[in-house]
Amino acid sequence: GTNDIIEPVKMPKKISYHDVGGLREETRLLREAVELPLRYPELVQDLGIKPPKGVLLYGPPGCGKTLLAQAVAQEVQATFFSVKGPEFLSPMHGQSEKKLRELFAQAEKKAPSVIFFDEIDAFAFDRSRATATFEATLVAQFLSLMDGFDRRGQVVVIATTNRLDILDRALLRPGRFDYRIRVSLPQRIDREHILRLHTTKMPLDEKVDLPDLADKTKGYTGADLAALCAKAALIAVSRALGQDMNHWPSSLDKELTSRIKVTLEDFN
Ligand code: ATP
Repeated sequence: GTNDIIEPVKMPKKISYHDVGGLREETRLLREAVELPLRYPELVQDLGIKPPKGVLLYGPPGCGKTLLAQAVAQEVQATFFSVKGPEFLSPMHGQSEKKLRELFAQAEKKAPSVIFFDEIDAFAFDRSRATATFEATLVAQFLSLMDGFDRRGQVVVIATTNRLDILDRALLRPGRFDYRIRVSLPQRIDREHILRLHTTKMPLDEKVDLPDLADKTKGYTGADLAALCAKAALIAVSRALGQDMNHWPSSLDKELTSRIKVTLEDFN
């Protein structure tokens, strides 16, 4: 039967560039790499350019790589396929190669498409380090699929990794992942932006000072900041219900969350 991982993903909600905090230059680069070939394939062909087939987003987890990929795919109304590197490490010999082939075939059929390949390092690590020939075969297969698809085929692969240093160098050769975009930890001004984005729907107490929170959250990822905001909202709800939340991963989180006061007087 058809494996569900090669079905396109229906996105839970519409995600746009406006949902991405900070990352302006990163967004610009990604748009340049993806929008042109997917939106204007004829133009690209007429100009005789070889559009990029792959974009590699790298950097620490939780900083917006997935968000960026979803936003760009939605913007160009591309079919979005989402797979994770580790899913391909099936012990069944040949299964993974087959899945990969089907994935690329589906993407071409449903073009314009974005294939989002999360954690690609799971199998595409430096082949000299590969412990089994199995992984090596898989990388080779992946590369030949990338090389093989039609230049005009409106398919772009967006892959992510937290470990650029262990990636198979062959992936970085021209015509493969030509665009490599670093997605770093948010700076102060970006943290403020992210906090604002994640509290837009919350009735915040007027004393809440997001710039100050941004100051105090050095080292926090976008995901960490989103979690703080979500927790603050949950606390407001549990208060309104007369309960008390007592579970805290760290006292700093507790301190910071207490500064995001969500007012829920109208709740009852
Ligand atoms: P991983 O490498 O773990 O897959 P990632 O870089 O893909 O991480 P995302 O999945 O994009 O990270 O981020 C996780 C969640 O954190 C997002 O759904 C979003 O709620 C929040 N988030 C992260 N970065 C940002 C950002 N720059 N702007 C707004 N929200 C963000």
